[in-house]
Amino acid sequence: MSSHHPTPEFPAHLRALYGRFAFDRSLADDPISVIRPLARDPRRAEIAGIFGATLAIGNTTAIRGAIGDLAARVDGDMARLVDPAHRAARRRALASFQHRWIRGDQLNHLADVLTAYYRRHDSLESAFLAGWETDGFVGGLDALAHVLRGTGPAPPGYPILFPSPFDAPRSPCKRLTLFVRWMVRPGYPDLGAWRRIPTGELKIPLDQHVHWIAYHLGLTHRRTRSWAAVEEVSEALRRLEPIDPVKYDFVLCHTGISGDCPKRRDLAVCGPCSVRPDCLMWRRRGPGN
Ligand code: SF4
Repeated sequence: MSSHHPTPEFPAHLRALYGRFAFDRSLADDPISVIRPLARDPRRAEIAGIFGATLAIGNTTAIRGAIGDLAARVDGDMARLVDPAHRAARRRALASFQHRWIRGDQLNHLADVLTAYYRRHDSLESAFLAGWETDGFVGGLDALAHVLRGTGPAPPGYPILFPSPFDAPRSPCKRLTLFVRWMVRPGYPDLGAWRRIPTGELKIPLDQHVHWIAYHLGLTHRRTRSWAAVEEVSEALRRLEPIDPVKYDFVLCHTGISGDCPKRRDLAVCGPCSVRPDCLMWRRRGPGN
C-alpha cells in the first residue's frame, strides 16, 4: 500500500479542476447523453437508465452505440421494453442483440423482471429505499440488485450482471452505483428523478479512469478496484463536499476518457492540470513514474 495522501491544498485544486472542466465536450461522449433527453419523464428515464447502466461496459463510444442499438430495436421508445403488450415482439427484437458479453436474452429477461416489478411499484427507488432504510447505501444497492436479479429461472450469466456489495465485495458494483448517481443527483449532468435519497449518501461509481486518478491523488490506497476502494474514495470526497460528494465523478472519469490525463508524467499534457501538485506522478519519481 502507498502512504500517499492529498496535499492540504487538494480541495482547492480539485475544485479548480471541476470549475474549468469542459462538461459540454464530455457530455456528448457519456452514456447519460442518451438518457438526459428523457429527464422530464421519470419512468422513461429510469427504464432507459437501468438498461443504459447495465450496458455500461467498455469504452463510451461502444456503450452509446449499444444503448442506441437497443433503443432502435424498440422503435426508439425504451418504455416499450416493459410494456406487456410488446412482450413477444420485444423478445424477437432483442434475440440477436449483443454488447460485449451481454446478450439479448439477458436483456429480455431484465425486461420481464422489470415488467413484473412495475405492476406493483412505481419506481425502482422503492426497491433501493427498502434496503437503504436499514443498511444505508450498501443496503439500498443490495436490495436493488436482488430485485433486478428476480426470483425465477434466468438465462446463463444473468444474475452476475447485478452484483451486490454484500455478496461480491471484490466488485465495485460500478454500473448500479452509476445508475443510482444518475437517478438521485439533481446536479448537472444527472437527472434527479429520485427525490428521497440524500446526495450526501451516494457512493462513487469507480470505473478504471476514476480509480486511476483517485489512487494517484491519494483518495484511496487500494491498487485494485473493490467495494472497499469505493468506500475509501467516497469518504475522501465526502470530507470535501459533504452534501454532494459524487459531483466530482463525471470530471474525474472524463479527465481520463478525454485524454486530459495521460496517466503518465507528460509535462505537455500535465502542465495545465489543476491537481498536478497532488498527483503521485509528480510528487514522487521512481520506476514507472
Ligand atoms: S498531473 Fe498528469 S498524470 Fe497527474 S492527474 Fe494530472 S494529467 Fe493526470
